[in-house]
Parts: sequence; structure tokens; C-alpha cells
Amino acid sequence: MVVTLPPRCTERELRESIERMRPKLLKLWEKATKSPSQQPELRHIDWNFRLESEDITIDLQPDATLRDGKFRLTKDRGHVTLVGPADYDFDGEGVQAWLEKVITEQIRSYARGILPARLRALSQQFDLPFADVRINAAHGRWGSCGRKQQRGLFGWSSQSDYHIHLSLYTLLLPERLQRLVMLHELTHTLEMNHSPRFHARLNAMLDGQEAALEKELKRYTTSIFAFAQHL
Ligand SMILES: [Zn+2]
Repeated sequence: MVVTLPPRCTERELRESIERMRPKLLKLWEKATKSPSQQPELRHIDWNFRLESEDITIDLQPDATLRDGKFRLTKDRGHVTLVGPADYDFDGEGVQAWLEKVITEQIRSYARGILPARLRALSQQFDLPFADVRINAAHGRWGSCGRKQQRGLFGWSSQSDYHIHLSLYTLLLPERLQRLVMLHELTHTLEMNHSPRFHARLNAMLDGQEAALEKELKRYTTSIFAFAQHL
């Protein structure tokens, strides 16, 4: 931080004015050092909207030659672009909700293509079988694990009747955090609780990084706006 002072200002005066401004300075400092995901979400989609993660990039692009008022979708591997008429009215009725839906459906489709295979690979690596996985649009939780209440003919059931749900927003996390979410749910096939034993098992699979990764995960929420940057 650089402080400029008028001529003939004594050091004592300087110190006093810094003390007076301390609360304000601390607030500014806090704001400047926060990561984008900690700053208040800007819930608006327009040409400046861009969502970029390790697995998918979604952005919007104006095209002055489009005259029918409609958007087109172009895809190039993990890069989805919504191309729309240059004079598009982003504040029109229902437009924001519609665009959020279009973007969410793209994430869902990529999540379906990518996350189940990663979950299966971890399941095999750590020998934690599960029955099936679904991708849902859950807000507020990254994943869940449940056991089908179905008994075999003789009253026993195997470990593989566990059903795992992953929120489509999990795809937007860096892969190390996707791994945390997936291993967390897979660990529930051993321990259906959050007991010290559960955490000990999970932490061992994460090479002792569970707490650090959990802390990092808390910076994100299950919303496209938690991951979007406004250019
Ligand atoms: Zn849990």
C-alpha cells in the first residue's frame, strides 16, 4: 500500500491519519485480496458473461448478421458458445431465466458425459463399489449417497446397492475438488454418517488433505454465478 502525504506533514500526523482510516483501509484490503468466487455474485448474463472451468467454458458472442432474434449454440469440445443477435435485449421478460436454463442444460450434458466415468474410476481405484450414479440439478449440496431399501430374498443385501447423486455444478469445480466430492460419497458406502471413522477413511484416501480441500470447496456454491466471471 502506498501513502502519499502533503509537504510538511509530520510522521505523527501521518500515523494518526492512518489510525483514523484503519477500518476503511482494512475493508478495502479485504475486498482487494478476495478471490473472485468470494466476491458477491453478479447474477446477470450478457455478452460479458463467461464461465470457465477445467472441464468446460461457456461464453456468449454477438453476431450482427443474425436477424431472426434467436441464439445459436456452437460447440468445440469443452467450449460452448451462445451466438446471438448483436442488438439482443438481455433485460427482456424471461430472458435471464431462459439463458440460465440454456447454460445449465449444457453443464448438465457435459456433467453426464464426464462425471460418471470419473466416479467409476475412483470406485475401482479404492474398491468402493456402488450401484448407479445420477446427475441432478441439486442446489446446496454437491452430492449425496443413499441405499436402496431393497432386501434380497434372504434378507441380505450387498454393498453395491448404493446410489450416488452428483449435482451438475460439481463439473464446474477443479478436478481435485470433484475428487473430494466423489470420494466423500463413495466413503458413505462404508460409513453412512460423518463420524470420526468416516473422516479418517476419507482423509486417508485424500493423502491427509481432506480439511484443506473442504476449506477450498467452501469458496464455491452450487450456482453458475459462483463460477462466472464478468469480463
Ligand atoms: Zn456426507
